[in-house]
Amino acid sequence: MTQPAFPIHDPVASPQCGSDLSAAEVAVLEGEIRALAKEKDAVILAHNYQLPEVQRIADHVGDSLGLAVIGKQVPQRTILFCGVHFMAESAKILAPDKRVLLPNLSAGCSLADSITAESLEDWKARYPDHAVVTYVNSTAEVKALSDICCTSANAASVVRSLPQKKILFTPDKNLGKWVAAKVPQKEVVVYDGCCPIHDVLRAANVNRVKAAKPEAVIIAHPECRADVVEIADEVCSTTAMLSAVERHPQARTFIVATEHGIVYQLKKKFPQKEFIVADGCIGCRMHCPYMKMIDLVMVRDALKRGKHEIEVPADVAEGARRALERMIAVPRDA
Ligand code: SF4
Repeated sequence: MTQPAFPIHDPVASPQCGSDLSAAEVAVLEGEIRALAKEKDAVILAHNYQLPEVQRIADHVGDSLGLAVIGKQVPQRTILFCGVHFMAESAKILAPDKRVLLPNLSAGCSLADSITAESLEDWKARYPDHAVVTYVNSTAEVKALSDICCTSANAASVVRSLPQKKILFTPDKNLGKWVAAKVPQKEVVVYDGCCPIHDVLRAANVNRVKAAKPEAVIIAHPECRADVVEIADEVCSTTAMLSAVERHPQARTFIVATEHGIVYQLKKKFPQKEFIVADGCIGCRMHCPYMKMIDLVMVRDALKRGKHEIEVPADVAEGARRALERMIAVPRDA
């Protein structure tokens, strides 16, 4: 069999993909966590980019907004959110009467941190007649100053649905440019933020992987740069990647241009398919350090000690909820 010119790691099998806990330790922790979740009336939510062992223990795995909506709908009074800070904030904003816990307060997000309330105020002053559309990967303060939020799945529908022709899109420039191309009837000014995990990937990296697997289907997240999006067969949100695979029943191999944690869900749903992270090298580029800051020990301790409880000031929560609920009301194909 011909070997590829460079090593392609399997992110499911690779030990670099999980924590350094042994299988026996994981089994004990899983038992403790399940018992504590029941005792504390807690639902465990995990983002698609979390460590496989954390995804495995969760009641629900998905994208940030989908999980926040689930948190509001489920009967449990406590939401244990395995993700990053802005995601736990969104869960709290949509379910203000529930207790929301984030196991590690250091789990932030470079993209969310790329825009502050003050910098958005400055941009709004520069573009006073623009409607502000803010990606959910942002702080509650920034959401509260926005007209409406969007996700990577509904960003084009949200922009299309607005009566204003002029749009200020924040904070992700790559997603904003992708939306601007999809909705040419709008004038979109794009803020200069990005997710470094997606922004660092280049078409040359993806083409290198493709050269080793020429028959592979390329699936890219719209937080990737335009050169990557241009060569992708499918451009979609993490959750939509699961259905994108179904659109290619003949394909056996998929090159995935997003954070490598999603491969756990893809492999679980399609065990007979092969998924290769677009950089061809786990931990080189498509690895979000913030998303890997929660392990099973932290999940157990968060449940046991009720930490770290997420609070959002009432006035900020009210503004952010308005922007989120306005988005939720937009039909997907608007
Ligand atoms: Fe933020 Fe990017 Fe990490 Fe997502 S992958 S949490 S957008 S830094």
